[in-house]
Amino acid sequence: MNDTSETTPAVTQRPTHLRVHTYHGLAPGPRLLVLGAVHGNEVCGAKAITQLLKEIDKGQLSIERGTVTFVPVTNPLAYQLKQRTGDRNLNRNMAPSAIPQDFEDRIANVLCPLLDSHDALLDLHSFHTGGAPFVMVGPQNNTGTLEPFRHAAEEMQLALHTGPHRIVEGWLDTYARGVQRRAATAPAGGAARAQTLVTNPNYGVGTTEYMRSRGGYGVTLECGQHDDPHAVQVARHAILQTLALLGLVSLPLKPEPQAREILRLVDVVDREHIGDRFSREWRSFDAVKTGEVIGVRYSGEEIKAPEDAFVVFPNPRGEPGQEWFYLATRRA
Ligand SMILES: [Zn+2]
Repeated sequence: MNDTSETTPAVTQRPTHLRVHTYHGLAPGPRLLVLGAVHGNEVCGAKAITQLLKEIDKGQLSIERGTVTFVPVTNPLAYQLKQRTGDRNLNRNMAPSAIPQDFEDRIANVLCPLLDSHDALLDLHSFHTGGAPFVMVGPQNNTGTLEPFRHAAEEMQLALHTGPHRIVEGWLDTYARGVQRRAATAPAGGAARAQTLVTNPNYGVGTTEYMRSRGGYGVTLECGQHDDPHAVQVARHAILQTLALLGLVSLPLKPEPQAREILRLVDVVDREHIGDRFSREWRSFDAVKTGEVIGVRYSGEEIKAPEDAFVVFPNPRGEPGQEWFYLATRRA
């Protein structure tokens, strides 16, 4: 065909839409949302979703009850750029905005109503340094002000059936404390929007926190290292087991892992200077002993473990003023 009037220009213009696939089973049931590539360089979920969409469309997998919505690429700008963020981190400060300022605000304006219209969320991520998959859950049931919640049991069930034996909890309250400290040390007059955002108490609200704030529940599954092909299998297994657990498909439900380890995030430490460096190449869940040096500030100050703990999400390339690593302890 020589008519070029409607061909797509092969330029890298900024994405203008979000691609979403919804299947309604013909019998009633819960509503599940599955997200891939909320961070643009974390593509295992997008790949697993793409496989499953084909299998559903070929009739190899039947959605019999309820609703499932798949968003293969939740941050298409970051995905196009092959990086974690577009204009900013989509998985922070998640809320609709009346006057969107950046690409992620515009995605949130489409994504938040989608989160609102589902009961459960499976958010598929991967991580920078090596290590085994793990799953993140929210708080215990509570009626507090930061993150009130009443679906801890359902959420833990979902977490256990996604596959990994390691479960991490306590993100939002740990993060909120880190943000308070960040705000206290932020340079006066740092009026840049990025700085305003990262010192906002709502900054820690991502997809799962937003979901809980709207009466739903959800887990973040960290499927493996970004480039590990096995991470796609981890994501696929988790999607299929979640569909089985919620009764949307008729597939055998695998038993919960026998040995499980629940870790609680207890602190977050920001990188303050580009010259701040780790004492060694940490991987998530590396154990540290009380007093062990984790990193050294540009100033020469040593950052030591305040108690026996595990290093989580170490980011040697974290931007100054943003998180460098977390510490977690085993839940008693
Ligand atoms: Zn991620």
